[in-house]
Amino acid sequence: MTDSRIPADLPDHIQHYIDGAFVDSVDGGTFDVLDPVTNETYTTAAAGTKADIDRAVASARKAFVEGPWPRMLPRERSRILHRIADIVESRDQRLAELESFDSGLPITQALGQARRAAENFRFFADLIVAQSDDAFQVPGRQMNYVNRKPIGVAGLITPWNTPFMLESWKLGPALATGNTVVLKPAEFTPLSASLWAGIFEEAGLPQGVFNLVNGLGEQAGDALVKHPDVPLISFTGESRTGQIIFGNAAPFLKGLSMELGGKSPAVVFADADLDTAIDATIFGVFSLNGERCTAGSRILVERSVYDEFVERYAAQAKRVKVGYPHDPSTEVGALVHPEHYDKVMSYIEIGKGEARLVAGGGRAEGFDEGNFVAPTVFADVPHDARIFQEEIFGPVVAITPFDTEEEALALANDTKYGLAAYIWTNDLRRAHTFAQSVEAGMVWLNSNNVRDLRTPFGGVKASGLGHEGGYRSIDFYTDQQSVHITLGAPHNPTFGKH
Ligand code: NAD
Repeated sequence: MTDSRIPADLPDHIQHYIDGAFVDSVDGGTFDVLDPVTNETYTTAAAGTKADIDRAVASARKAFVEGPWPRMLPRERSRILHRIADIVESRDQRLAELESFDSGLPITQALGQARRAAENFRFFADLIVAQSDDAFQVPGRQMNYVNRKPIGVAGLITPWNTPFMLESWKLGPALATGNTVVLKPAEFTPLSASLWAGIFEEAGLPQGVFNLVNGLGEQAGDALVKHPDVPLISFTGESRTGQIIFGNAAPFLKGLSMELGGKSPAVVFADADLDTAIDATIFGVFSLNGERCTAGSRILVERSVYDEFVERYAAQAKRVKVGYPHDPSTEVGALVHPEHYDKVMSYIEIGKGEARLVAGGGRAEGFDEGNFVAPTVFADVPHDARIFQEEIFGPVVAITPFDTEEEALALANDTKYGLAAYIWTNDLRRAHTFAQSVEAGMVWLNSNNVRDLRTPFGGVKASGLGHEGGYRSIDFYTDQQSVHITLGAPHNPTFGKH
């Protein structure tokens, strides 16, 4: 019997990709990969350990030292990156189908992410040919210029939410700038990452430039962080994992880019357009199953519109359609993995003791198996509640009232995180002064999470260190060597003449 939910031609085993070849782990280890709708094992993946990371880094290092990639003209690399974008675009349906099946993301949203992945490659393909670097003149005496160079083997460690898109986010700039890479994708979702190898080969990326090692974070990820021939680690994941990686990378003084967790506020003032604010804050926390780093998972609402907001919000949340990930009408699919499902459910139970439940509150109706959670809304959430402070990373939102702008700001800043903030008001002065004071790396004023790829992306406090996006990514993946040239007579104090 065929099941239209299950994509055709699923692999029965997923391998590493090292030095241009698909290979298993040196020790033959594997791990199970589950389908989030049934939690049954649908395939296995090679479980990498230090020995596999050693092989992958050796391949990437050889490609960097001996291969053509770092030495190619930007235009030549750009052509290959555009070809990669073309291929990703032409396969967007298949990519979305696989991603949705593996991660539980609704198919329509997975399709958007596949297109965004292509756009990431196109963006950096354009950027490196338009790139100009600084030159400084001291008239008649000195010329100084910046010589931008790739750094070497970049270690890329990525999470399971929108896996293919987040991988493209790192692969695009790392490759565009001439580095070679070892990618360690998240163990919950290895399926879409395994497609990169074929795409890159077809686009003409030289052998050894891209290497992929699957496996657990504590094994494969850890070995990559501790490898002495990997000078850069770009990591996206939980803040706690980021702390561990910081510690492990410290003895090697590695370059680190850290995109970590969030508990972002959406602040709704009474003068905002309430219809738009409700639509946006519903989408802001329930899109991507709530498994979104920039989710507006704390909604702060001005007291005079609070009751109306909560009532309308809860009613709309109850109408959000939970469904099978492959169904185009689904708005919230299945959470990625039973472990994550258990974590989200445990927060829902904690929330019931901390605040007033106004929508959802458990397993989605009509789904007896799999990781389906009803969109869940808590109101009157105190600022010291765990569901106000801790990242849940699922379709669960905390709503809290405020009376004054000062109180709204204090509540907005009252977490260890500082990734995003969304502000809804028609008062221009308040919008900008609030944006200035809120502790968040990114602020959206009267806007959903819509980001131009040129803008910096990143968080403050426990949400990360460093920014990616646009030129910041180019800066992270390159050394800016400054070269100084004397014009005319050298300025040369003479020591030891007498
Ligand atoms: P995670 O930290 O558990 O895992 C992320 C990656 O790190 C995985 O590939 C994992 O295998 C690896 N890893 C785990 N332990 C490691 C170790 N000791 N050494 C090296 N690698 C290790 O995160 P997750 O659960 O996969 O992803 C969800 C988290 O990611 C959330 O906190 C979310 O907010 C965050 N996130 C942040 C952004 C952002 O841009 N700020 C974007 C997406 C997701």
